[in-house]
Amino acid sequence: MNERDSEQVARMFIEGGYTVTADTTDADAILVNTCSVRDQAEQKALNKMNAMGHLRREKPHVVYGFMGCMAQSRGPELLQDVKHLDVVVGTQKYHRVFDYVDRILKTRTERRMDDLSLSLQGESVCDVEDEVDSQNTISDHVPKDIQSTAFVSIMQGCNMRCSFCIVPDTRGKERGRPIPHIVEEVKGLVAKGVKEVTLLGQIVNLYGRTEFDIVDRKSPFVQLLEAVHEIDGLERIRFTSPHPIGFRDDLVNCFTYLPKLCSHIHFPMQSGSDAVLKQMKRPYKNEKFISICEKIRAARPDIAITTDIIVGFPGETEEHFEETVACYERLQFDNAFVFRYSKRRNTPAAEMENQLTEQVKEERNQKLLAIVDRIAQEKNEALVGTTQRILCEGVSKTKDSTLSGRTSQNRIVIFEGDKTKLTGKMLDIEITHTSRFTLYGKLVD
Ligand code: SF4
Repeated sequence: MNERDSEQVARMFIEGGYTVTADTTDADAILVNTCSVRDQAEQKALNKMNAMGHLRREKPHVVYGFMGCMAQSRGPELLQDVKHLDVVVGTQKYHRVFDYVDRILKTRTERRMDDLSLSLQGESVCDVEDEVDSQNTISDHVPKDIQSTAFVSIMQGCNMRCSFCIVPDTRGKERGRPIPHIVEEVKGLVAKGVKEVTLLGQIVNLYGRTEFDIVDRKSPFVQLLEAVHEIDGLERIRFTSPHPIGFRDDLVNCFTYLPKLCSHIHFPMQSGSDAVLKQMKRPYKNEKFISICEKIRAARPDIAITTDIIVGFPGETEEHFEETVACYERLQFDNAFVFRYSKRRNTPAAEMENQLTEQVKEERNQKLLAIVDRIAQEKNEALVGTTQRILCEGVSKTKDSTLSGRTSQNRIVIFEGDKTKLTGKMLDIEITHTSRFTLYGKLVD
């Protein structure tokens, strides 16, 4: 979601006559979009911003800004803590970033350099207010030479209150965009060559439940999936992330009659223990989570299910942890992100008394990771010798001479080929070998 929000901001700068650069020494404005989901992510953003402060010695006009979740939760405090910071813009104000930065930059570049130390005072901006309809402001994309996949933000916010999570504070209440707006955005992407879209929401399956009606027993999210599925030229649809609440049979059934819907869901489980789920304020029981997974597998037998799990949550006993391990083994997830619980300030879990030691968290983390790796490796190895249909996304991240694409199950496949001819194409690749995360293969004629 942050990637998508950053793209919206970049697009506004391009329209305003700026050029995007990845080289900070080249930049007149440096914006860091921040994540608050873990403390480590916030520290990383702060370290990065502090490490770039020296650039102002060479270019006194350079504008520095924080956007996103940390900007939202810390607001003016950031301007006090990071002396060279100019702009702090929250999660409902991405569409204002351009105006704020452009105004400061123009003022500074128009001034005589020797007055600059004076002019820097009083120019900073902090905007973290709520804004009605902000969900409708994230719909523009950066033009690219060849693009086969795109993220589409369909909603903002979350109405849950998981006790470990800061998102409801940083992203506000659930707000969905109207279906016709989303369909128009996807049509525009397809016209530019996009073949696959990923629909994004904090709890994507709850999309529109407070604004739009259920029609023919279908939730607004299912109605949206059907509408997007109708778009000619679109080959694949993904969505992330769903929640067990509101994952009803109408959505499960989509996997039987919407062939463009990819055979993958990332479905956060968080814990396999009811006692821990209760402490997490996740309003479902483990059996419900398991039953949804089983229904999805019955509807789409080749589906890959990946998950998120937090280990070492306050009060998690060895038995609770073993329940999570047993559930993981039972469901045979294709892969997982395993997180050691870390305190987020202003969340109920951070105040719980029965916090675990770092050592216990790390032991459980390692134990679960070993299981995750083993199952992922086994599943990948079973694909050696098979032919997989992939969408080629372009040059691979690790080696310029190879291309990469994804299977419907979201497995990355690396192979050799001609970037110009193959990017954006659906291809058959014979899998020759694998690692935990990646399949390697060769193009089938
Ligand atoms: S569902 Fe829970 S974990 Fe997910 S964003 Fe909402 S509060 Fe956070």
